[in-house]
Amino acid sequence: MKYYSTNGQAPMADLRKAVVKGLAEDRGLYMPERIPALPRSFFDNIQDMTFQEVAFEVANAFFGEDIPADDLRRIVNDTLSFDCPVKRVEKDIWTLELFHGPTLAFKDVGGRFMARLLQYFNKESVNVLVATSGDTGSAVANGFLGVEGINVYVLYPKGKVSPIQECQFTTLGRNISAIEIDGVFDDCQRLVKNAFMDADLNSRMKLTSANSINVARFLPQSFYYFWGYAQMKKLGLADRLVCCVPSGNFGNICSALFGSKMGLPFSRFIAANNANDIFYKFLQTGEYRPGASRQTIANAMDVGDPSNFARIWDLYGKDVDNIRSMVSGATVSDDVIRKTVAECWKSNGYLLDPHGACGYRALKDGLKPGETGLFCETAHPAKFKDTIESIIGTPVEIPAKLAAFMKGEKKSVSLSADYEDFKRYLTSKI
Ligand SMILES: *Cc1c(COP(=O)(O)O)cnc(C)c1O
Repeated sequence: MKYYSTNGQAPMADLRKAVVKGLAEDRGLYMPERIPALPRSFFDNIQDMTFQEVAFEVANAFFGEDIPADDLRRIVNDTLSFDCPVKRVEKDIWTLELFHGPTLAFKDVGGRFMARLLQYFNKESVNVLVATSGDTGSAVANGFLGVEGINVYVLYPKGKVSPIQECQFTTLGRNISAIEIDGVFDDCQRLVKNAFMDADLNSRMKLTSANSINVARFLPQSFYYFWGYAQMKKLGLADRLVCCVPSGNFGNICSALFGSKMGLPFSRFIAANNANDIFYKFLQTGEYRPGASRQTIANAMDVGDPSNFARIWDLYGKDVDNIRSMVSGATVSDDVIRKTVAECWKSNGYLLDPHGACGYRALKDGLKPGETGLFCETAHPAKFKDTIESIIGTPVEIPAKLAAFMKGEKKSVSLSADYEDFKRYLTSKI
């Protein structure tokens, strides 16, 4: 399989190059040149397969030409060392829980898969740069922790990441360095992008990206949509199934839409935004107008210029009506997130996190009679302990996995949002 750039100005890349480079030479995102369709028989039997078997079939459709089946099976099985169960929240509304991995957020699947793929392709030393608005940093850092020959640099906006999120990548040490940037998430993303475009820096260090722009991170996220569908089918609830994804940088929903193009029979999708409503407005007006990111209590979705928009745009032939035929949008304010968490807890006994709350709200408001809804719960509520406790007024129990991170000692480097500062720091590491 070859990968082209969404900006159309860079040569095609093979999988190895797309994974190791992350971003194309023209700053575009890599896209597979074709979307393989999965056979009818796969969907007929999917309800009787395991998560790993389902994921292997999906992975093999994309990566099978480039990775021998045995290696790919091992990478998939190592990645999926935990389940993503569906649970009933109320009549017609189900959740797909994506927070059972090591860092308790959905980005674990992409982070773990990419670490294993990069190690498979890359035998020399490489530096992974990753900008995070919250959960990416911990998923990538934990996915790569202790992987020989790989150094990870996590850039995060100072004061805009919850203390629990922060400790998941600042306390690891070993091959993981945390860098606190005096700015917002978009500054972190800009610094990383500039570093990749800096010919001088790239001649001195081998750099790669682990943001959701990397094909090895975003494509494997499609696994859990197939698995969510399989579980709903087993329950006899897969007809007119609507999938709602809380979205920020749009990597997660983009992987769901890839699934849809491969034949996954969801009837439609909803992209739930917080107050960062760029995509919602795009669907309404047909114009994509990126803006500065706004801080919300669903902070992992505070993105003002979602990178993966370019992929969705390409996937639907650069036609807004095509996108509208499959995807609708919603925007959920902090106030409504708070009310939603309280309400769902009171009436259903199900505790949402602020991101999942956007998904639940958008689904509940958008579901039509006869449809069944499945929304992604993208993080464990305990990751946002203070916010959630202030809403429901009772203590939220911290799972043991999370408590273990909080015992570690925070180590991070503070830098300005100026690129020259960042470059000076990186080159001091050579
Ligand atoms: C990253 C993240 C999101 C947004 O996912 P995108 O792929 O960036 O759209 C939603 N919820 C949580 C908890 C996240 O960490």
